[in-house]
Amino acid sequence: MKNTLLKALAIATMSTVFILSGCSDNNKEAPKITRIAGKTMGTFYGVIIPGGYKGGEEPLRKICEDSFNEISDVISTFDPNAELAKFNEHKSTAPFPISDALSQIIQECDYQSRRIDGVMDISVGPLVNLWGFGKDKSIHESPTDEEILQAKKLVGLDSYELRHTPKGAFLVKKDPNVRIDLSTVGEGMGADAVAEILSRQGVKNFFVNVAGASRSSGFNPKGQLWKIGIEDPTNPDHNVFVPVCPKGKAMSTAGSYRNYFKDDKTGHFYSHIIDPKTGRPVDHRTMSVTVIDDTATVTDALDTGLLVWGAEKALKWADKHNVAIYTIEDKDGKPVGRYSKAFAQYLKCDIK
Ligand code: ADP
Ligand code: MG
Repeated sequence: MKNTLLKALAIATMSTVFILSGCSDNNKEAPKITRIAGKTMGTFYGVIIPGGYKGGEEPLRKICEDSFNEISDVISTFDPNAELAKFNEHKSTAPFPISDALSQIIQECDYQSRRIDGVMDISVGPLVNLWGFGKDKSIHESPTDEEILQAKKLVGLDSYELRHTPKGAFLVKKDPNVRIDLSTVGEGMGADAVAEILSRQGVKNFFVNVAGASRSSGFNPKGQLWKIGIEDPTNPDHNVFVPVCPKGKAMSTAGSYRNYFKDDKTGHFYSHIIDPKTGRPVDHRTMSVTVIDDTATVTDALDTGLLVWGAEKALKWADKHNVAIYTIEDKDGKPVGRYSKAFAQYLKCDIK
């Protein structure tokens, strides 16, 4: 069970988060810091607590691993014992009883999905599999138009239904082959779960990240706001493109540049972000979308969909709805950053 969330996210980005100026100087009396890093969920996670965590690294590691395992037990599509995996294997249109935890995350994803016209779609699973990013197999050639058409029939917000009854929540498939894929929000859920435990325990200053999704609170070891770098997707080393201070909010980045496959015949690269409307991987010059909001579950749900839209449409939507987003486009090999009005405050790192 240990590695299940990592496995669930094994196809997800390996992008990590750059913490800028977070380490203490070589002072005579270096402040105590608890810092852990792990690879517990098919991706990387890390936690930094300036001032130190009571009990040190081990209890902190346990909090993280327990949280990730709990999430994985619900949403993994790789672990056959996970609740969502069982639902996916339930090849029937008969209502399938689900836990409150699964019903809540599906409800949240549906809500976020409707905000962005269904471009983030948790029923995208059959297309993810078809394009070789699912649990089934990796591929070397693009699927045929006919295969895409068939898979698309199983995708869409109307392909499943969440029912709340006095007997509890049920999830219903329109077709027995419908699959739900929550991996797009797994990282955000992990970061939120750990952040919520630390906040409840009264830890004021911390930084948590699961791959590209992070939660931070208070100040870094230097007593400054946490500063996080958005990567340059056009640079092979993925250097920091722009520093951002999320000021206590959650932040995550979806990128089309980390996880892809190359069609051996055509040499074309295909991203793991799929446009549910076309049934194909996104193929435009928007390389990444970063979102800042209250929870990493929300940012992680939105970033994927906004990346499907691409910078132009995503920025228009974000300005209309007052959402903080930062996009990076590849213009002739050069990264070009643009951001919504609500994002401007996070590019300023002075403490007001
Ligand atoms: P990134 O790796 O860029 O951070 P995420 O890990 O958040 O992105 O999500 C990517 C995963 O989400 C894909 O590997 C796939 O399983 C799933 N996915 C792809 N396209 C969509 C989509 N349009 N809506 C929802 N989930 C998607
Ligand atoms: Mg995402």
